[in-house]
Amino acid sequence: MSNNRSESASAPTRRHFLSVAVKSAVLIPMAGMGMARMAVAADLPHLSPSDPTAKALSYVEVASESKSSAYKAGDACDNCALYQGDRKADWGPCAVFPGKDVSAKGWCTSYVKMS
Ligand code: SF4
Repeated sequence: MSNNRSESASAPTRRHFLSVAVKSAVLIPMAGMGMARMAVAADLPHLSPSDPTAKALSYVEVASESKSSAYKAGDACDNCALYQGDRKADWGPCAVFPGKDVSAKGWCTSYVKMS
């Protein structure tokens, strides 16, 4: 009998602990995502076409000026699946060039048409 009483008395504590643990497990990663979004939203240095990786991928700041045979009219960073920025902004992050913003009107040979 006393065992039941002590269990029921401790049940809210256990429930409270589980509630806090579950909320923490959900909210802490969400807070991290918010911080990641803030980092993405911040302006990054612009990728230079003379950057070695940019050169290797024939990156240009104005897609229509590309001399690559892989370039097709209409392809541009702002309609590439790897572009991570606001599609209405002039510059934004790209999955291929971490830590840099690419020109939304740019292009490179890693272009992936958005589906
Ligand atoms: S991968 Fe896409 S978004 Fe990134 S630079 Fe190349 S074309 Fe632009």
